[in-house]
Amino acid sequence: MAGEHVLICVAWPYANGPLHLGHVAGCYLPPDIQARFERAKGNRVLMVSGSDEHGTPITVSAETNGVSPQDVVDKYHAINTKALLDLGCSWEPNVDPRGVDFGGSLFNRTSDEDHHKIVSENFISLLNAGLFEKKVMQQYYEIREDGGRFLPDRYVEGDCPNCNAPGARGDQCDECGVTYEAHELQNPKSKMNPEASIEIRDTEHFFYRLDLFQEALEEHAIQRQTVWKSNVKAMTKQWLDMGLRPRAVTRDLDWGIPLPLKGEEWDGKCIYVWFEAVQGYYSCAKLWSQRHASSDDWEKWWKTGEDGVKPRHLYFLGKDNIPFHTVIWPALIMGLNHAAKGLTASDKPSLPEPGELQLEDNVPAMEYLMLAGGQFSKSRKHAVWLPSFLDRFDPDTLRYYLSINMPENHDTDFNWPDFVEKINSELIAAYGNFVHRVLTLGARLPLGRGLDSFEDLSFCNEEMEKLENLHIEITNSLEKHRYKEALRNVMRAAQLGNQMLQSATPWKFLKDLDGDGAKESMAKLSFGWRISRLLSIMTQPFLPFSAQKLWNSLGEEGDVSQVSWQSAIDWNTQFKSSDVDPEPLFKRLDLDEILAQEQELASNDSNDNNSDPTHGVKGSKKKKKEEKKMPEGTTHLDFETFMEVELKVGKIMNVTDHENADKLFVVTIDDGTEVGRTICAGLKEYYTAEQMIGKSVVFVANLKPRKLRGVMSEGMMLAADDGEGGVTLVTLDGEIAPGSQVR
Ligand SMILES: [Zn+2]
Repeated sequence: MAGEHVLICVAWPYANGPLHLGHVAGCYLPPDIQARFERAKGNRVLMVSGSDEHGTPITVSAETNGVSPQDVVDKYHAINTKALLDLGCSWEPNVDPRGVDFGGSLFNRTSDEDHHKIVSENFISLLNAGLFEKKVMQQYYEIREDGGRFLPDRYVEGDCPNCNAPGARGDQCDECGVTYEAHELQNPKSKMNPEASIEIRDTEHFFYRLDLFQEALEEHAIQRQTVWKSNVKAMTKQWLDMGLRPRAVTRDLDWGIPLPLKGEEWDGKCIYVWFEAVQGYYSCAKLWSQRHASSDDWEKWWKTGEDGVKPRHLYFLGKDNIPFHTVIWPALIMGLNHAAKGLTASDKPSLPEPGELQLEDNVPAMEYLMLAGGQFSKSRKHAVWLPSFLDRFDPDTLRYYLSINMPENHDTDFNWPDFVEKINSELIAAYGNFVHRVLTLGARLPLGRGLDSFEDLSFCNEEMEKLENLHIEITNSLEKHRYKEALRNVMRAAQLGNQMLQSATPWKFLKDLDGDGAKESMAKLSFGWRISRLLSIMTQPFLPFSAQKLWNSLGEEGDVSQVSWQSAIDWNTQFKSSDVDPEPLFKRLDLDEILAQEQELASNDSNDNNSDPTHGVKGSKKKKKEEKKMPEGTTHLDFETFMEVELKVGKIMNVTDHENADKLFVVTIDDGTEVGRTICAGLKEYYTAEQMIGKSVVFVANLKPRKLRGVMSEGMMLAADDGEGGVTLVTLDGEIAPGSQVR
């Protein structure tokens, strides 16, 4: 139904680091595709999300780096907002260009004062309705001269009571996955201040009565059986089967929304981050309304209208977050409705009625996108963070790869060879080449005999029928959140175009436009323009940048995202043409080049443990240079530590090119042992193989061996680097046997 109100809720990214490709595939790309598709169908979309800026991961990260929590969240809110916009996610403009009745989007942040205000109001109304209970908890307390403080779970470390692993957190062991009560932890210490003495103290907190909503939530889950994916059904059932218990909504921490209560006993406590961040879906819609529309416009996306039509609520998130959105958040929404009706804990909660806040319709949660393991993991830090990726690649290539590889039903894997393969042999070979062929052949036609003059749709009935069927299938897939399937069928439309051109061979008729068979062949080329137009409209939700570029090359005007989805198969739209020379939509990718860049990033990374994961190739080089120019303040090393480095003399016996890395040599060294050793070295820019063979060099003999692009490297040769591009191997003055110690 066109004109439907669709609320798209996107999981709030946590502002303590940059987004990585796993986040993008799981939470941030699917809702953007959906929003673009819904808008193209004529629906009214309000999309909401923002940075989740409270909680202990942020305070821990701030304390570790000696900055304020505000610095941390300001930094990552800016980085992630920019990265999402660079990826083409439609967080701007805030108001739909068709008008405010069509909605818009707001990417907010939980540190927003107005979010604080709305959350505080909700807290009070739930409290007044009796939906909280007060309980005494036990919490570690760090004793200090200045008064001490309670330690949230992440601030406590010890040995796991289950598997004995060290470094277990206050409530959970990352090693064996078990959760436990804080007092069960063995040898507990304050993470930030391990010397401090700590003890367990009582502390009073509010708990939300989730248990009151058990029955209503079970009813809700039954109503959603036909809509939810199997992973959503299974996880929700698991939670409900365990039985819901009250859940803490306050904690001892000063970074967060302060309790809106008077009294000393509440000092130093804040609203628990889970309880307030999830309310962001609601506060964000209200704030969008206040700031960009009329103040009660948000209700159109939250409440059933006077016509009895319910808005559709879609929540996009990773699988780890499912029960949060199918159990906890619906229980809060029902609680707010309950309180608004003036009911209390003794009244039975019910599912929302018309005029009340509505629950979610679908939660198309994704499985995980995995990162290729093994040797790739060294460079992981650089290679798969979104900002760094977008520094190096066209955003549409990432959107294509993650869409065609989306972890809809099972985990999928990101790796470079597959990325390059799919871009070159699918995106470019099928789609890019087809539209480029149509445009370049069209551009070779003589003046006055453009593509439009050959149009004769009677030759193209078969193609039209197939495309119309594909259009229906793609629409169905997108309505069911099957992005992979939808995009595969869009590519099928491009393949159909390619096959049509291949058999019509219009290029043979360019010099003889009136010869035998020219009429049919040129009619097909002309229809190629219509298929390209269809592709521009139908790739738009997935690949907005290239779709717009193609739209312009076709001679069409305006923004393709404003064009109706249905008009993709309108075969009677007027022909257009552009005077601009057609350019290929995408650049081919070179795997060797990418792997070499990765290699470089990996080696920079190993020199620089604190490297900022947000920088790309250029940034990382610059950073390295800057570090070299740092003043000579040296960090002193213990003599013992230095002596742990085992330096030896080796003689270079053989040097070959590394098969999988352009910049690396594989060097065989006589190290005094019978077998010798292999070292990978990035010296190709400075030496030829011949220049290196026979040299006596110094190498680090006890460096942990590591695989570099498939070759095990057993050490590192020392080289001097002037920082200006000059690099020479450290060689020896005179003869000495390979294997000799250097000290
Ligand atoms: Zn454990």
